[in-house]
Amino acid sequence: MRTALDYTRRGDTVPDDALLAVVNDRSRCLTCAGGFILDGFPRTVLHAKSIDLLLAARELTLDAVVLYELPAAGIVPRLLGRRTCPSCQRTYHLKTRPPRTPGCCDDCQSRLVQSTNDRIDSIRLIQHTYAMTPQPLIDYYRSRGLLVTVSAHGTPEEVFMRTIDAFKFTQVAPAASPLPVTPPVGC
Ligand SMILES: [Zn+2]
Repeated sequence: MRTALDYTRRGDTVPDDALLAVVNDRSRCLTCAGGFILDGFPRTVLHAKSIDLLLAARELTLDAVVLYELPAAGIVPRLLGRRTCPSCQRTYHLKTRPPRTPGCCDDCQSRLVQSTNDRIDSIRLIQHTYAMTPQPLIDYYRSRGLLVTVSAHGTPEEVFMRTIDAFKFTQVAPAASPLPVTPPVGC
């Protein structure tokens, strides 16, 4: 876990082995009564196959994979405006969800910080990484009938409601997509 955090704090891309170690560390969460959400993971087909193995070992299946789509021009201002409270971890956005007092957490009055990941150099690196890798992953989940595509335009509340609607109108059929149990072989 610490290794992956070290990469994140430096604004570097977390390598596959460190990322998979984090998921393995938290694999007990896959059997939580309320279910689980993997946010921003997997990012490659290799990751996806590793998740498949973890789930298959617990006789679990994915219900859906949500792909949030936003033009690149909309991503940078959204990430640049994010601020986080280092004490309670509450998140803010300078435009869409500002704190009552600029720069201060509403809950604990700590000084808000900008994550290394949300600075311009890191955003460009992340955009480049995502631009290079997502299509095989999208194809992987689309071929299994799991992919639900949602526009990420608008406020967090609007995107949330759009996500709920997408589930209402999308026929997700995980049962028709048996999980592969072969080891991951790269993408
Ligand atoms: Zn706080």
